[in-house]
Amino acid sequence: MTAAVPPDAVQRWRKTLSRKGMDINQKLTDLLSRQNATLATIKLPNETEAHEPPERRLRRFLDQIIRAQRRLGTPDWGLCSTCRRPFERGALDDTPWIEECAACANPEVS
Ligand SMILES: [Zn+2]
Repeated sequence: MTAAVPPDAVQRWRKTLSRKGMDINQKLTDLLSRQNATLATIKLPNETEAHEPPERRLRRFLDQIIRAQRRLGTPDWGLCSTCRRPFERGALDDTPWIEECAACANPEVS
């Protein structure tokens, strides 16, 4: 990104990312402790592949947040990972872990 990024915005994104990261981490911890308790006593039906298990979804989100934390402050920050167009500032403020613009994330819509 060539446009200057105000340091207070970077601070805010960093804070949002770390807060969300902790939130997801907590959810994952809760889920795993519940699973461990459940798996010991209850026999699960055949696992379906159709829906992504919550654990995997949480881990994927956590990975996404970590990647965003690494990206913050590098030239890749704020750019769509596919088309390299800069994100709207509002999108970054709301979801700083965003990786693709709407057009790339939903190609059939555009
Ligand atoms: Zn894109």
